[in-house]
Amino acid sequence: MNFHILTLFPEMVLNGLNTSIIGRAVNSGLLSIEAVNIRDYAFNKHQSVDDYPYGGGAGMLMQAEPVYLAWKAVEEKIRARRSLPAENDAALTEQSGTPDQTGVPDQTGVLDQSETSGKRSRVVYLSPQGDVFNQKMAEELAQEEDLILLCGHYEGIDERVLEEVVTDYVSIGDYVLTGGELPAMVMVDAISRLVPGVLHNDVSAEFESFQDNLLEYPQYSRPEEWHGKKVPPVLLSGHHANIEKWRREQSILRTKERRPDLLEKCELTEKEKKWLEGLEIQKEI
Ligand code: SAM
Repeated sequence: MNFHILTLFPEMVLNGLNTSIIGRAVNSGLLSIEAVNIRDYAFNKHQSVDDYPYGGGAGMLMQAEPVYLAWKAVEEKIRARRSLPAENDAALTEQSGTPDQTGVPDQTGVLDQSETSGKRSRVVYLSPQGDVFNQKMAEELAQEEDLILLCGHYEGIDERVLEEVVTDYVSIGDYVLTGGELPAMVMVDAISRLVPGVLHNDVSAEFESFQDNLLEYPQYSRPEEWHGKKVPPVLLSGHHANIEKWRREQSILRTKERRPDLLEKCELTEKEKKWLEGLEIQKEI
C-alpha cells in the first residue's frame, strides 16, 4: 500500500513512521510512505503558503494553490504508475463531484470511492470536523492501493481546494491539534498493520479490540506469578476450547465495564446473554 502525505512538515511524519513494525514494512517494500512538502509548490519567492483569512479573524490559512499543485503532482504520479490516462484539470475537477463535507458517508463514516470517482485516489483531509476515525474505517481504507492524506496547519486550509480534491474528512477525536501530521501518522499506523504481511503473525490483527465490537481479553506472559498475582489457571491448562471460552467471556465483561456503548452493538449468543443476565442477578443479590 502506498501512502502519500501532503504536509508542511515532511520530516515530522517520516521520522515518526520509520521505526519498528511500520519502518520494517517500508524497508521490505510492503508499504511506501511518501511525504510531499506543500511548500515546494509555493508560487512566490518567499515560499510562503499561508495568508490572512478574508473577513478577518485570528490566525492564518493555508492557501489553495500550493495544496492543489502538491495534490496534482501526487495524483499524476499515481496515474502514471498505474498506467491510467492523464486527465486534464477540468476532468479531474468534474470527477471529484461534491465531496463529503456534510457527511453523507457509508456505514463506516467514510465515503465510498465509487461515489466520487472510479479512478482518482482517495484524499483524506485530517480535520477536527471530520468523521471520527475508527477500526472499521481503518479496515476499509486498508483496501486502497494509494491513499493521499492532507495535513492542515495554522487555522486550516482554504475551503475551495478542499472542495476540489478531498473525498473524505477524518478526525482523530474531539479536540483540536496544531496540525494534521499526528492524525495522519495515527491513520497510517492503524491502516498499515491491517495490510497483509505487515504484522508477521497475521492472526494478531484478527483477534483484537474492536473486532465484533468487543475489547480484547486480558493477556499474561511469564512469570506465572508476579507480585503475588497468579496467571488465571485456565490459561495454563492447555485446553484450547476452555481457553477460547474464557477469553470470550473476559472480552464481554471488559467491554461491558469499559465500553458499554460497544457491547450494545455486539451480537451475543442467547447463551451469552443468559450468562450475562445471571451475573447481573448475582450482583444484585
Ligand atoms: N480552525 C480549524 C477548526 O476549528 O476546525 C482547526 C484548525 S487546526 C488548529 C489545524 C489543522 O490541524 C487542521 O487543519 C487539521 O488538519 C489538523 N487537526 C487538528 N485537530 C485535528 C483532529 N482532531 N483530527 C484531525 N486533524 C486535526
